[in-house]
Amino acid sequence: MKSFKIKFWGVRGSIPTPGASTIFYGGNTSCVEVRFKDGPFFILDAGTGIRELGKYLQQQKENIQGYIFISHFHWDHIQGLPFFRPAFDLKNSITIVGSDDAAAKLAQIISFQMDPTYFPITIEDMKAQISFRSIKEEKFSIEGVEIQTLYLNHPGYALGYRFSYKNRCLVYISDNEPFHHLQNSGPITLSARAVPEVEQAFDNFYEDKNKKLIEFCKKADILIHDAQFLPEEYETRKTWGHSPFPYTIDLALNSQVKSLILFHHDPDHGDQTIKKMLEQSKKIIRKTGSTMKCEAAREGSILEV
Ligand SMILES: [Zn+2]
Repeated sequence: MKSFKIKFWGVRGSIPTPGASTIFYGGNTSCVEVRFKDGPFFILDAGTGIRELGKYLQQQKENIQGYIFISHFHWDHIQGLPFFRPAFDLKNSITIVGSDDAAAKLAQIISFQMDPTYFPITIEDMKAQISFRSIKEEKFSIEGVEIQTLYLNHPGYALGYRFSYKNRCLVYISDNEPFHHLQNSGPITLSARAVPEVEQAFDNFYEDKNKKLIEFCKKADILIHDAQFLPEEYETRKTWGHSPFPYTIDLALNSQVKSLILFHHDPDHGDQTIKKMLEQSKKIIRKTGSTMKCEAAREGSILEV
């Protein structure tokens, strides 16, 4: 292994999409495994992809001392957690990291989805040692990995994560929408409405809210970023908290990242649509003369830097 290795277990946004048209890229929702060389074990989001990851870890008979970073609490990012088998194994210890929201603490939010009204077993049935770490927009480190977080332009308290380790850097921004005022396309789109901390965090960058994001992604070796919509779809879906793919490319180019991974595929996009989106993306990047790599996230694929 180089500095770290990532594997995609779920790449879809909004809702799982099984079926013939999604076999190539996969239909499970957000979940990415990250292993740091001689360092900790992280999982980014607990969408339905985490179920397969859990099965794999159990087959390997691997004891888990790991961290699950939740970007936010929309279903596509937490729904797999009650099916994550290592959480039911006494030998394991798991720390769930994420933001509180205005009405509830992280631990409450996670346990709510396992309330008996919605689910037959409760969080108390998870026999692993489960702990919670509430975070905001901040910098901290875990076992040698430097971590920085950023509130995103997405409804609620959504966080982006920047992980730096042994001179390599991964940025994970699963759900995010551009700010538009620079492009003169009407009023600023702010999905993160009614979330004072988030609005305040961006207020300091009032002149150019996109700049804060560019700084956050600066020179990442890998940027995993929302690219849910085609430009024509985006026109009727503003404030939903997701990006049209040309914006994602623009952000990555401006941030001088080495490799961009288009992520959080729309549930209505079959493999052919995603392949076309990727072709167009590569064309746009080539035209600029940039050597930035670009791929669409695919279940089961592995990256190492
Ligand atoms: Zn999502």
